[in-house]
This record gives sequence, C-alpha cells and structure tokens, in this order.
Amino acid sequence: MSRSDTLFDQARHVIPGGVNSPVRAFKAVGGTPRFIERAEGPYIFDADGKRYIDYVLSWGPMLLGHAYPAVVDAVSEQIRKGLSFGAPTEIETRLAEKLCAIVPGMDMVRMVNSGTEATMSAIRLARGATGRDKIIKFEGCYHGHSDSLLIKAGSGALTLGVPSSPGVPAALAEHTVTLSYNDIEGVKAAFADFGHEVACVIVEPVAGNMNCVPPVPGFLEALRECCDAHQSVLIIDEVMTGFRLGLKGAQGYYGVTADITCLGKVIGGGMPVAAFGGRRDIMEQLAPSGPVYQAGTLSGNPAAMAAGLAMLDAISAPGFYDKPFAHTDTLIAGLRERAQAANIPMTCNHVGTMFGVFFTDDATITNYQQVMACNTERFNRFFHGMLEGGVYLAPASYEAGFLSSAHSDDDIQQTLDVAERVFSTLK
Ligand code: PMP
Repeated sequence: MSRSDTLFDQARHVIPGGVNSPVRAFKAVGGTPRFIERAEGPYIFDADGKRYIDYVLSWGPMLLGHAYPAVVDAVSEQIRKGLSFGAPTEIETRLAEKLCAIVPGMDMVRMVNSGTEATMSAIRLARGATGRDKIIKFEGCYHGHSDSLLIKAGSGALTLGVPSSPGVPAALAEHTVTLSYNDIEGVKAAFADFGHEVACVIVEPVAGNMNCVPPVPGFLEALRECCDAHQSVLIIDEVMTGFRLGLKGAQGYYGVTADITCLGKVIGGGMPVAAFGGRRDIMEQLAPSGPVYQAGTLSGNPAAMAAGLAMLDAISAPGFYDKPFAHTDTLIAGLRERAQAANIPMTCNHVGTMFGVFFTDDATITNYQQVMACNTERFNRFFHGMLEGGVYLAPASYEAGFLSSAHSDDDIQQTLDVAERVFSTLK
C-alpha cells in the first residue's frame, strides 16, 4: 500500500470523498489520487517521493512553475507584517492599478477570494445594473459553483455526471438559459427572441472545463454584438484564460472586449485570489459606491496581493510568453505525431499555454456534444500510463492542460517519450 493510499483512506473518514474539490479524487479515471508533499518548478512530488512533470499546475495558477522564488519571497516578506487587517492597504491599489493597465476594458476592479465569487458577484452586478434577471451561459462552460451558474456546467460537474446540481432551486435555475458553445446562430436566435430580458451573457472565451475548446471565428464577436444591440452585459470569464493566452488574456488574443472580466488562478500565483472588473459605470454600482452588495472578510488579503503583484511583474517581462507558447506547440505537435504513428485516433486543441487531447475520429472539436462523444475509457488508460511514467495530467478528460515557463525542452521531450510508450499500449 502506498503512502497516498493510506492518506486517502484517512481523508475519506473526515472529508467527503477524501478531497476538498471533487476532481482531485480521481473519480473519473479510477485509482488513488496522489497526495502531494511539495512542488518546485514544473515538478510535483507525491507522498511516496515520486516526481511528476506537472501539466495541471494547481488547475492553472502556476504559470511561472511551482515555488517561483520572487513570488515566495514577496509573500514571505508581506506575512511578516501580519496576515490580514480587514482594512484598506496600499498594495491592493497597486495590484488594481496594474490589472486596470493590463486587462482590456478594465476601468475598475474588485478583489475576491475565488473564481466562484468573481463570477457570482459579476452576475449579481449585471442583474443589478440592468434590472433584468435572465442570464445566458453555454453548455459545458464552468464558472464556479454558485447556484445560477451550476447549470449544465463543465469540469467536476461533468465528471460526476451532475452538470446541474441538486440543491439549486428550480425558481433560480429558470433564469439561466443555456445555449450551445460556438453556435452563433443559436445566440442570435435567443437574442432575437428575448434579448430585452437578458441581464448578461457569461462565457469562457476558450472553454477549458470541457477539455480545451477554442471559440470558432465570429463566436465571441457575435456575443459582443448581441449584447450591444440589447444593452446586455458581456461577462468574459477569464479565470482560466487570464494571463494564460498572453498578458492581455483571451480578450487580447481574440480582440473582443468584455463589459466585466472575471479573473482568478494566475493573478494569485497560487494564493486564493480572484477579481472582477470592467466598465466604470457598471463597477460604480457596487457597494459602497452603489447599491449592489458584495463583500469579503479576507478580500484583498495583503499576502495574496503580494503574490499577485510579484506574479504580474514576472510575466510582464518582454518575451515572457515566447518560451511557454513554443513549448506548448512542440508538445502538441509531438503528441499528434506519436498518436498517429501508433494508429490512435486523436485530436488536439491548444491556445497559448492551454491544451487538450481528445480520443476521437473527429478532426475538429468545437462543442460539448463532440467532447462528450470522445473515448473516455482510452483517455483513462492514457492518463494512468502517463502517471505511471511520471507525467501528471488532469485526472479527467474534461479538463484543459497547462504549461508553465518552468517547463524545459527536456521536460517536453521526456513527456513525449512517455507518451510514445503509452500510445503503443492503447489499441
Ligand atoms: N471560472 C472558470 C473559467 C474556471 O475555470 C473556474 C475554476 N476552474 C472557476 C470559474 C471557478 O474558480 P474557483 O475554483 O476559484 O472558484
């Protein structure tokens, strides 16, 4: 019995399912989740001392790799001055200024503690600002686990087969309209039908919670046009894509600007930080300057702000993205080549430092139905083979993979060597 087995047994007695977030439990792929003891650069080390090349990166935040010295130093220095004050600090303004300077369309920003809070608050703000109740989201997109958004959701909700959770009142769910991702005509038809009732559209600009599904050309633009035509608020949920597709996130990458942007993951550099921000006239509706209520005891926590600032400093360096983008290209090209040589039908999507592999005959994957039709049994064997070979992928076929600036040529080559061996066993 491994140490992870023992720890998992102990955890299951006192934590539901043994984990504090469902996908960690390996429920989709089977087996025992690896309990992690420490991490450094592109590697995580489990409780049995085994090293893995990490493509989960704490589900996205660790764009600089683990334990990046400048981030660790900034946090260490800050926590010596006290952990939390519940009063304003200069460092919050410095991070807000930096975000407003970088993120397209962001005039003002409010810090929160998780992506769930960011999207939940953004929705409330959009409803408050428009006086409308209806929201539009897309099938397979995950925006955290608040009631209004846990409807036909992605990520762990897909893995567990409960895309709409018990506990969400029907009276609330009826205000959430779910459309098909990348279906431009569907969006136009919905707006033609009830556009005047729509408070907001919320979208993952690259869907990363049903594997990795980029927007088709024109999709994000159509959302922008429909929202403009009906005075609805466009919320672009960049919790995952923010700073991952380049410094300006998906909005910089695709040239479409939100009214409200949600951020998370990378901005905290591994600390619990998220944010939502955007147009000044909308943001000023928030308490205490406006009537829409939102608050948080630990929001803008100084240690978390220090991590965020150090993170943004590091990734703002000219040319920062060149290496991780090139490594993502190399990894994906290498995986394609090796799958093809082994006669394993596989399609890959990748954008910036995000990627996904699909075991399917479809040459392109653009929507939820196609994702759901992929061969999950083959993915599960691929996952376990890679894990055994020291490569840590997300333990479910509905999650995007990530690269960091710490992954080296050698790490990519080792990953491809392991993949080649695993593909030969997948027939
Ligand atoms: N939005 C997106 C796009 C996400 O990927 C996630 C988390 N994976 C969330 C929101 C929720 O963030 P958190 O888990 O920090 O609540």
